[in-house]
Amino acid sequence: MSDPDATLSDLLHETRTFPPPPELAEHANVTAEAFETAERDRLAFWERAAERLSWTARWDRALDWELPFAHWFPGGRLNVAYNCVDRHIEAGHGDRVALHWEGEPGDTRVITYQDLYGQVCQAANALAELGVRAGDRVAIYLPMIPEVVVAMLACARIGAPHTVVFGGFSAEALRTRIQDCDAQVVITADGGYRRGAPSPLKANVDAAVADCPEVRHVLVVRRTGQDIDWHERDLWWHEVVDRQSREHSPDAFESDHPLFILYTSGTTGKPKGILHTTGGYLTFVAWTHWAVFDLKPERDVFWCTADVGWVTGHSYIVYGPLANGASSVMYEGTPDTPHKGRWWELVEKHRVSILYTAPTAIRTCMKWGAEIPAEFDLSSLRLLGTVGEPINPEAWMWYRENIGRGECPIVDTWWQTETGGILISPLPGVHTTKPGSAIRPLPGISAAIYNDEGQVLPRKDTAGYLVLTEPWPGMMRTIWGDDDRYREVYWSRYPDAYFAGDGAKWDTDGDIWLLGRVDDVMNISGHRISTIEVESALVSHPKVAEAAVVGAADPTTGQAIVAFVIPRGATRTGTDGEQFVRELRDHVTHEIGPIAKPKQILVVAELPKTRSGKIMRRLLRDVAANRELGDVTTLTDSSVMDLIKEKLPTAS
Ligand code: ATP
Ligand code: MG
Repeated sequence: MSDPDATLSDLLHETRTFPPPPELAEHANVTAEAFETAERDRLAFWERAAERLSWTARWDRALDWELPFAHWFPGGRLNVAYNCVDRHIEAGHGDRVALHWEGEPGDTRVITYQDLYGQVCQAANALAELGVRAGDRVAIYLPMIPEVVVAMLACARIGAPHTVVFGGFSAEALRTRIQDCDAQVVITADGGYRRGAPSPLKANVDAAVADCPEVRHVLVVRRTGQDIDWHERDLWWHEVVDRQSREHSPDAFESDHPLFILYTSGTTGKPKGILHTTGGYLTFVAWTHWAVFDLKPERDVFWCTADVGWVTGHSYIVYGPLANGASSVMYEGTPDTPHKGRWWELVEKHRVSILYTAPTAIRTCMKWGAEIPAEFDLSSLRLLGTVGEPINPEAWMWYRENIGRGECPIVDTWWQTETGGILISPLPGVHTTKPGSAIRPLPGISAAIYNDEGQVLPRKDTAGYLVLTEPWPGMMRTIWGDDDRYREVYWSRYPDAYFAGDGAKWDTDGDIWLLGRVDDVMNISGHRISTIEVESALVSHPKVAEAAVVGAADPTTGQAIVAFVIPRGATRTGTDGEQFVRELRDHVTHEIGPIAKPKQILVVAELPKTRSGKIMRRLLRDVAANRELGDVTTLTDSSVMDLIKEKLPTAS
């Protein structure tokens, strides 16, 4: 089964398949023909995607490519905010709802494209009054309230690149990001609601900017009304923005003008400031949102549950959906406030038809139990999506059965902050899906799997390193202020391809399976084993909701597998004893073979995750090796690590 010379062992055997529903296939936005068109002329294909937007000047060429720097649509000029707002009003859709916003405490706001226009113009005028000019950076540290969308679009409208910092990050994380990109204006709120408690956003900004003398203004949205300190540089949003004109005539910017800087999740180490520009990025997120979610803007209600502080929020809450004139749901709080059915209540209330979330959320819902979504009417859903991590086949099946009524197709979308938008995903009207597989690169995307030596592996039954061999419109421009690091991180492993840092395999049908990060691959007696396969075997046990595995040094096998598992809600009893651990080890042996049997299994209540919900295996590796923990600034909850450490000495 395992060949020590193979790049990665292939352990997972999943055979369930789900063809596209005929009705969806018949009316799908994108059909199989798109692959042929893109194959014939990739650049012409992307030019057609760019034509879906409004430009004030057409580009001279599709692409200037000086490896590794891509300049898409040079000479073309456009305004992102105009494309996301004004043009829909000009097309007669001003009354369409852009955002159905739900606050955590139960307050709501309905914002049409016409409303959004007025608010974005006012905010753009306010920023201009504060002296923000095209090219100046603005930091945005807001909760999930409509002002965050307004602030992003206002920045885009005046050509000031924003850097959105997740509202749950600490003052320290905020400070390093403000300093890294030299932002001079910060937009924040007094606080935001998370699990009923107001978070100290303004206090964090005060602490962060104490060390940032260049910050001239802090613009503060009143959200919670909590007490805050007030400094000379502070201004209330409602005092400065609300008195502005509701009209603003936008300038068009060159296609390569910076749109935003966003720091990566920090799953593998210190976050990198990823720079995205205007024309290529907007073309790409608009096209992928329309194609992958089969969006019908006149009737769909789209809900992406991500936070805007994460790239998924940038591309598929803000820029993609708004460029397409979609109606979206936006929710401020956590899925369990005030009760664990809150998301499903919102799906029912707004008749959500497309839901896009992350494997971590699905596994959490599994842990809470299927009875919770079963209480709500989810019949409006027609398409489900996932992003962020490889999805365990059992979680995929749970999602399909319990949220998608066993009918909705699931698009498992692979992409990164760096890629700007989705690169690998089934197209819901074209592909037969398989639980756990991201299926195919999208039309116009040249993905390949390389071996260690940089040879292209055949698209059948092979595994190695995922690379992109041609530029695509959504690709990052560089790492902010650090072209050398950009070259080194992404273009030094192989000279001719973008190195994604993820392992992947082609199955016998030529479909892609993501195998997790190459940094996470374990080496057991010379077999290179990816974490996801062992984790998926554990999650396929009926009593397990989540699992994370890492390699720890072992005198005989080089590395041994250490597993951390969270039991499922209803079956929690009897999951803390040796008997349960034995059962799980036997289960893994049965599912994939003795080579993958964990040496140690720890039953835990939580796993260390990034704010975007990704398991941070590097911290578990540190625990397993009894080392000092690495960078924890992007961890959701650092007390999780103490709980896990407590478990360690008494483990089996
Ligand atoms: P850092 O680069 O700082 O370590 P990060 O990689 O977690 O952080 P993101 O850009 O948010 O930052 O995440 C991209 C990564 O998420 C991908 O490289 C991949 O490992 C994982 N990922 C995203 N979607 C999928 C998916 N559908 N299947 C498998 N993995 C996915
Ligand atoms: Mg990454």
